[in-house]
Amino acid sequence: MTDTKFKPHRHDPSHPDLQRTGASERAERVTAVLDWGVPRLRQLPWRQTRDPWEILVSEVMLQQTQVDRVIPKWRAFLDRFPTAASCAHAPLADVLRLWQGLGYPRRARNLHNAARMIADQLNERGRFPQDLDELMALPGVGPYTARAVLVFAFEQDAAVVDTNIARIFARLTSSRLTPRQVQRLADDYLPMGRSWDWNQSLMDLGAAFCRPVPLCSQCPLRSTCRWSNAPAGSPDPATGSAGVSVRQAPFEGSDRQARGRLMKALNSAPVLRSDAARLMGRDDLTAGRLVDSLVKDGLCWSDAEFIMLPS
Ligand code: SF4
Repeated sequence: MTDTKFKPHRHDPSHPDLQRTGASERAERVTAVLDWGVPRLRQLPWRQTRDPWEILVSEVMLQQTQVDRVIPKWRAFLDRFPTAASCAHAPLADVLRLWQGLGYPRRARNLHNAARMIADQLNERGRFPQDLDELMALPGVGPYTARAVLVFAFEQDAAVVDTNIARIFARLTSSRLTPRQVQRLADDYLPMGRSWDWNQSLMDLGAAFCRPVPLCSQCPLRSTCRWSNAPAGSPDPATGSAGVSVRQAPFEGSDRQARGRLMKALNSAPVLRSDAARLMGRDDLTAGRLVDSLVKDGLCWSDAEFIMLPS
């Protein structure tokens, strides 16, 4: 049997920050983040639980949706599906209906499939997947979400790298970072035994200060942040760094908007194929292409006459 605990990378001499930053400066930065963050962590409902299913649902919802919109949806979803097994045994249509308003419904389909795999594992092994490989084997769970479950549910020592955290490390070190570099930097900064506090504090620091347009004057890292202390006008190293999101294409007029309109209509009742273009606000050719894409994604079912949610 393989070792089931995730072991973060430690002390890689090849990454740029380690060549320029001493252990004492790293320790100073870690202390600054924890001292600032722990007393004032945002009171988010998924921070009050260590239930891995509840954490997984929150992380999947947060992948592409803002916190404020996720909170009521997370509560409603868990009221209906308090366990992975309850979700696994429900029709996909019920999961898609609860997902309405969050966007990117492929996540709901993946979560439903993940729930089935988790329920099987709970039956066979009596435990939720709880190492990196097991979690990443779940549909829709990548390295970020898997580490987030390890940290926020199981309080394992792992470094979570989301958009905000990648931005912080790029600016802190004034380096454009590859995915490997940013993960290794995050691993190296991780204060062992304080993983939950550290990752949550870093996320809140990113949301509060290290935004696309940063608020450096109030940031607890300002005294040691290389980019903040660089000459005015220095290019932002987060631009083009791994994991730092680029601006999304406009929603208005997008395929995503049209697909969303049809999914919303399907939540109430099956739709006539002949009505799809009108409901989507697109021409017949585009509507046909988008219906085919939804069917291909497993998000709806269609025959010659009707389109409906999958059972
Ligand atoms: S000092 Fe500014 S650039 Fe540096 S981490 Fe803080 S907010 Fe980001």
